[in-house]
Amino acid sequence: MGWEPMAVRAVCWALFGVLCTAAPAAAADRPAGVLAPDSFPIATDARLGGDETQTRFVMDLNRKIDLHAFTLADPYRVVLDLPQVVFQLPPKSGEGGRGLIKAFRFGLVMPGGSRVVFDLAKPVRIDKAFVIDAADDAPARLVLDLVATDRDSFLRKIAADEKAARAEAPPATAAPNDTTDPRPLVVLDPGHGGIDTGTKASSGDLEKDIVLDFAKRLGERVEKMGKYRVLLTRTDDTFVPLGDRVRIARNAGAALFVSIHADSLPRGEGDAQGATVYTLSDTATDSAAARLAEQENRADVIAGVDLKAEPDDVAGILIDLAQRETKTFSLQFAHKLIGDMKEVARLHKEPIKSAGFRVLRAPDVPSVLVELGYVSNKQDLQSLLSDSWRDHTADSIAQAIDGFFSGHPIGARTAN
Ligand SMILES: [Zn+2]
Repeated sequence: MGWEPMAVRAVCWALFGVLCTAAPAAAADRPAGVLAPDSFPIATDARLGGDETQTRFVMDLNRKIDLHAFTLADPYRVVLDLPQVVFQLPPKSGEGGRGLIKAFRFGLVMPGGSRVVFDLAKPVRIDKAFVIDAADDAPARLVLDLVATDRDSFLRKIAADEKAARAEAPPATAAPNDTTDPRPLVVLDPGHGGIDTGTKASSGDLEKDIVLDFAKRLGERVEKMGKYRVLLTRTDDTFVPLGDRVRIARNAGAALFVSIHADSLPRGEGDAQGATVYTLSDTATDSAAARLAEQENRADVIAGVDLKAEPDDVAGILIDLAQRETKTFSLQFAHKLIGDMKEVARLHKEPIKSAGFRVLRAPDVPSVLVELGYVSNKQDLQSLLSDSWRDHTADSIAQAIDGFFSGHPIGARTAN
């Protein structure tokens, strides 16, 4: 993540503050600063018009809001940043396209901030982006006008926008590293969130909700042991870019990083079922693992994060050296996990695999990605939705975490 989301975050938080003070006083039963759902603006309808040279997107709202529109390349996208909006659009909204717009997605990307991301058929210029007030019987309307352009002009506009934004971007701040607590830090990473729902089960349950609930249960257990500090990369339904997840872990001095997912069956995998633990590798174990990593790495594209803006944190050679040691520890932990999980959860027939997951790329933090099961498999889904299965499986992972640290001096790699 580069300047753009940071700058936007500042704006959205500012907006959030304004909304807070404007909220009705009947907030006594809510924690300070938390808005009732009905205090957010509501989007009720969206439609597309026009053709391949000029396309208009219109969204009906119950009141006027601010917006910021920008473009991203490769793939071509337009992103609309909005204050937090409750989307009550008709089912299947955004699945189909028209003219220059192939499809669009919408959802929460951070507390106080929502986003609409448009996939484009070709490069465009944002001709107009504005919101008009409600008048007579018509609701407030957000209007986005796109005009076809060529690739060169499209890229030139992005470069100009970036230059302007860099000039006014606030410096990025790192999460504070609590150096007074010597206990190893375990970072748990519930996958997806906000606009990126992850896999949708046939039951209607979303991967982002399943894994958040699971990570919270696991976090409680690890914390209760008293020997470890625990940090979650997200604690609510918020989108977190992949690079940020890695950065949160590194900046906080994580001794172990566990990403948690529950995906659907990768196509061509047959009727796969059971939990799988993944470690990082440039060459995937098999094509199904490669496809899964590819699918997970798309999270940033879904939410309209500019991949080009990812900075390299460490020089290549340092990454290489650290990664060799880290890889060994990651694999050791993966084996420990499988050993403890097999007592309570059904495992995939090849339970340890590797592939190029971007979220596992911290060079100096042992990292694994746990697929709890496949929501596309009936039995797995039943387990994933069961309270007692979640509790038992969280117990087994907590036990593996404890086993990993008791067996390894790396547990002592804490604040320095
Ligand atoms: Zn996932």
